[in-house]
Amino acid sequence: MNQSKFQEFLLLLDSLDAYQVQECLDRIRECRVKADEPAGSIPKVIGEAIPERCPHCNCKNLSKWGSSNRLRRWRCQRCAKTFNVLTGTPLARLRKKGTWLENARAMIAGASLRDTAAQCGVHRNTSFRWRHRFLRFQQKAQCKDLTGIAESDATYFYRSEKGVRDLDRKPRKRGGDGIGSGVNKNLVPVLTLRDRTGKGAERVVVNGGLTEAADDLYATHLREDTLLLTDGSHELRKAGRNRNPDAYMDLPGSKSRGASKSPYHLQTSNAFHAHLKTWMARFYGVATKYLGNYIGWYRHLAEMTHKKSSDAFILLAFRPLAVSQQLTVT
Ligand SMILES: [Zn+2]
Repeated sequence: MNQSKFQEFLLLLDSLDAYQVQECLDRIRECRVKADEPAGSIPKVIGEAIPERCPHCNCKNLSKWGSSNRLRRWRCQRCAKTFNVLTGTPLARLRKKGTWLENARAMIAGASLRDTAAQCGVHRNTSFRWRHRFLRFQQKAQCKDLTGIAESDATYFYRSEKGVRDLDRKPRKRGGDGIGSGVNKNLVPVLTLRDRTGKGAERVVVNGGLTEAADDLYATHLREDTLLLTDGSHELRKAGRNRNPDAYMDLPGSKSRGASKSPYHLQTSNAFHAHLKTWMARFYGVATKYLGNYIGWYRHLAEMTHKKSSDAFILLAFRPLAVSQQLTVT
């Protein structure tokens, strides 16, 4: 549209009634979604991707089997099951693929459910379902070879049974009785592990002991020669020594702040906890069953400091599938 016609168009906006304004907003939202889907954008890439293996039996012998919902279907020669490239990924059966980018963008901005739903033009229940589909993989996508020096510490969140109708305790009034010191049954420990490159992993310890959770966390995510630093707590010290006493150092009390220019401190971990708590505050309390998803979301945002792209965000959910087409994050 040339500039003079555009100016006329803008002048006409003043004469719209409320219904027409809403209709315009809906149309603009559709235009934005289309503009965000140039050739090679994620929904198109997903639509054209070719799976390497059958998600049911891993067989490589596949044949084309028509299409459904704008996605090609494939049939496995061995198990005869049909599937598309999203089968077996967190994005399977999600509808409205054109608005995933908008949804991912809102998630990167840490938008509320209500705002995300409005931006995508969907109901907030749909937005909620999408959020947790995207997050399911974020929680699992934790770095498995933390290197150099890694810091581990615990931070605590209120145990929350948001949405549960039959509570087996008295409801808390406006957030409860304060976090207080030490561990109590109203708090859920979250054990974090971070190296100095900014990569990390965590465990939400809903049930069971901290030591067992720490044993698992360290065994899964640390390289053998990575130096592990923890505070002086009995549980973490025990787990650190269980893993490798020669690559472990505890920093009780004020030692966790570290001497000037000393690399032995827990400041990376403390800063991560502080930023995580600030970021989580926008959700006004998260149900404990979703806590891991939200922490995974924050970890992912913290790790993608340079490229907060919605494509990259969607790609993470799509990554479990090996596709023959090279996916490029821009
Ligand atoms: Zn198969």
